[in-house]
Amino acid sequence: MTAPLPLGSTIGIIGGGQLGRMLAMAAARLGYRIVVLEPQVDCPAAQVANRQIVAAYDDPAALDELARSSAVVTYEFENVPVVAAEHLSKTVAVYPPARALEVAQDRLVEKTFLNGIGISTADFRPVENDNELADALKAFGGNGILKTRRMGYDGKGQMVFRNMAAGGFDGACASLGNGQLILESFVAFEREMSVIAARGTDGSIAVYDPAENVHRSGILASSTVPAGISEQTAEAARDAARKILSALDYVGIIGIEFFVMPDGALLANEMAPRVHNSGHWTEAACVISQFEQHMRAVAGLPLGNANRHSDCVMENLIGDDIEKVQALLAEPDVAVHLYGKAEARPGRKMGHFTRISQSRR
Ligand code: AMP
Repeated sequence: MTAPLPLGSTIGIIGGGQLGRMLAMAAARLGYRIVVLEPQVDCPAAQVANRQIVAAYDDPAALDELARSSAVVTYEFENVPVVAAEHLSKTVAVYPPARALEVAQDRLVEKTFLNGIGISTADFRPVENDNELADALKAFGGNGILKTRRMGYDGKGQMVFRNMAAGGFDGACASLGNGQLILESFVAFEREMSVIAARGTDGSIAVYDPAENVHRSGILASSTVPAGISEQTAEAARDAARKILSALDYVGIIGIEFFVMPDGALLANEMAPRVHNSGHWTEAACVISQFEQHMRAVAGLPLGNANRHSDCVMENLIGDDIEKVQALLAEPDVAVHLYGKAEARPGRKMGHFTRISQSRR
């Protein structure tokens, strides 16, 4: 257990999007100051932070400045260069640990890690060319999803194959950039869900209730709590989260996405070593949100209660959805959260809202 960060200390955040913004707001409530490293000026996080270092995430001078200015450094996205995290770790504590980035940045490493600690995933094969793709597709009965191993998000860098064992996919690997790819077997899931969990510097763990997630065009549309799953499935998800956190000697919040099979069995899809969009409901339906929980963890404070006091549905406000805000504000049980982005482009996350239910299941 590291000593708690003294009040007034500065916490560094790499990345200045909406997740950084919500982390900064939670840190302020706990009496801390925030410095954000982000190349885009006036980013969502900088609007509510004490200071922004305007530079690329891998700029060595900027990273040194961040390390000098911060008592601890965290991040809001999983593609922080591992070398940057390792460089920072020489002079300042970095949470979650660089190992979590390494695992989460590569789907092949991630699935191998998960299987290694007893957590099931879709079947998978590394693929680097169309011949290897043909062999892998044959092994999976002609169905699968080809993904880039790295840098994929919101369904980007993916190609779905159905009944393709006989060929007809020449050039598929090239169209995904020809690099290191992975073919996953196609999972006929009943629903998708995620679990948000935290581990403190003292090894204590707090797990939020699983949320049921609906994606549209590869982007999270809504998270509903409670998820429509059995208590047995919920406990299996919580147990997987505890295993992952302990295996990585993790500090902070993690988000883990699962497929739920018709018989209730779980397959882990991916994990994000950061606060997660499918955990935004926690700010309205729990005493301690995922954002405060993350800041408590990285600051060496005790974790708070992750219990849910209300049922709820969180929906993202994407692009033009921002026009719904006035009507949402008129609903008494809706908490609206906007990200301070000036321009509402299609597919851009502008905010979210959580509709609280007065009853609790
Ligand atoms: P990902 O980028 O891995 O989160 O994938 C984006 C979405 O594609 C997921 O939320 C699922 O809806 C779908 N998907 C991903 N992998 C698979 C799979 N192996 N089988 C079926 N659907 C998948």
